[in-house]
Amino acid sequence: MSDQRARIAIIGGGMGGLTAAIALTRLAGVEVTVFEQASALGEVGAGVTVAPNAQRVLDRLGVLEKIRNVGAVPDGHGVYQDAMGNLVTDAAWEDSNREYRNIGMYRPDLINALASEVDPQIIRLGHRLASVQTLDAGVRLTFENGTVEDFDAVIGADGIHSVVRRSVMQFPEPVYSGYIVYRGVVDASRLPDDWRMISQVWMGNRRHFMAYPLQQRKLFNFVAGVPSDRPLQGPWSGPAEVDELAAEFAGDDWDPRLHRFIESIEKTFWWGLFDHEPLTNWSHGPITLLGDAAHTMLPHQGQGVNQAIEDSMALAVFLGAAESPADIPEAFRRYTSVRMQRTAILQHGSRRAGAMFDAQYEFVDLAKRDADLRVGRDFRRSAVFDYDALKVAEKALSQFRKVQYA
Ligand SMILES: Cc1cc2nc3c(=O)[nH]c(=O)nc-3n(C[C@H](O)[C@H](O)[C@H](O)COP(=O)(O)OP(=O)(O)OC[C@H]3O[C@@H](n4cnc5c(N)ncnc54)[C@H](O)[C@@H]3O)c2cc1C
Repeated sequence: MSDQRARIAIIGGGMGGLTAAIALTRLAGVEVTVFEQASALGEVGAGVTVAPNAQRVLDRLGVLEKIRNVGAVPDGHGVYQDAMGNLVTDAAWEDSNREYRNIGMYRPDLINALASEVDPQIIRLGHRLASVQTLDAGVRLTFENGTVEDFDAVIGADGIHSVVRRSVMQFPEPVYSGYIVYRGVVDASRLPDDWRMISQVWMGNRRHFMAYPLQQRKLFNFVAGVPSDRPLQGPWSGPAEVDELAAEFAGDDWDPRLHRFIESIEKTFWWGLFDHEPLTNWSHGPITLLGDAAHTMLPHQGQGVNQAIEDSMALAVFLGAAESPADIPEAFRRYTSVRMQRTAILQHGSRRAGAMFDAQYEFVDLAKRDADLRVGRDFRRSAVFDYDALKVAEKALSQFRKVQYA
C-alpha cells in the first residue's frame, strides 16, 4: 500500500490468521493486529499435512525452512490399502517438479513456528469478537471484554463458527458428514522398528484409518474415520477411550499391522466432521473472510489449512496493489473472486474423497472406487499441489488492471 499505511484487524490467531499476518506484513505493507479469543495461542494435539501448494507460499514468505525443520517429510509416496493392507494405489505426495513434498506437522509445532514469525506486540490474546460495525470509512470492532477499536478493515479468520461471517451476510448451516474421527498421536518408539515412514490409509467396512509421521519422525499422527451420530446428540468433540476406537477396527478382516499400530495408542479424542456449502460471497466493503470462516471443508484431502495459506498469499497480492485504505473494498472483491471457485471445488472434492475412503454412494462398487482413487491421485498432484497462489493472483491483478484502464 503506497499512500497511507492501512490498519487491518485479523480475527483469529489460528494457522490461517497467523499466516495472513505474516503475508500482509511482509508483502502488502499494511499494519496488522491479530485478535485471538483464547488466553494463549494453541492447537489440538494432532497432526496436519502441509502440502506442496501451501509450501510454495510459505517458501515465498521465508518461513518454510523453519517449518520443515520441525516437521517430517516421509520417505516416499503414501499408500491407500484395503482393510488387509493390500495396495490399492499410491498417493500423491509431491508436486510435478518434485520441488515440494508433503510435510507432516504436529499442530502445536506449526502454530509455534508461525507465531515466532509474527511480532508478539501485534497479537492481542483474550479478545473474543462480539460484533463488527461498518463505519463511513472502515469498521468498529467490539469485543466481549469491553474493548472497542476502529480499523480500516477486518479479516475474519475465526473458523467454522465465524462471527465476522455474519457481517458479510452469510449464514451457512454446518453440515454433519455422518462421521466422527478418532484423532491423536503415537510416540514412534512404541511402533516396530521397521514401521514405514510414509502415510498409510486402510479402508474397509465403511471406515478408514490414516497414519503418518510428524515431528522429525518422533511422533505418528492417526485419524480414524467411523460412522456415528454422536455429534447430533451433544458436543462436536470430546475425550474418547482407546478401547472404543480399537473395537471399531477389531477382527480378522483388518490388517494385523493396523492392530499393532492401534495397540500403541495411549490416548485419543473424538471429533465430529462438519463442513458447510460454499458461501455465495466472502466480502462486504472493508470486511472479508479467510480459512475455515470462508470455506470449512472435510479433512479428506488435507486442504483446509493449505487453502487458508493460499488465501493469505492472494490477499497480500491484492492488498499490496491498493494505493490507500479507500481501495481496500476493491482489493477484497478481487480476492473473493479469485479464491471462491478454487475453494468451492475443494469443499466438494473433500466430500467426494470421504465417500471414496468409506465406500459410500457410487463407491460401494469397489472397482469404481479404486479407479477413481487412482485418477484422484493425478488430479491432486496437478490441480491441487502444482497451484501457485502468487502467480494466479498476480495474473488476475494484471487482468483487473486492464479492465479498469481499458
Ligand atoms: C481430523 C482433521 C484433520 C485435518 N487435516 C488437515 C490436513 O492434513 N491439512 C489441512 O490443510 N487441513 C486439515 N484439516 C483442516 C484444518 O484443521 C482447518 O482447515 C484449519 O484448522 C482452519 O484454520 P483457520 O485458522 O481458518 O481456523 P481455526 O483453526 O478454527 O482457527 C480459528 C481461530 O479463531 C479463534 N476465534 C474464533 N472465534 C473468535 C472470536 N469471536 N474472536 C476471536 N477469536 C476467535 C479461535 O480461537 C481460533 O484460534 C483437518 C481438520 C480435521 C478436523
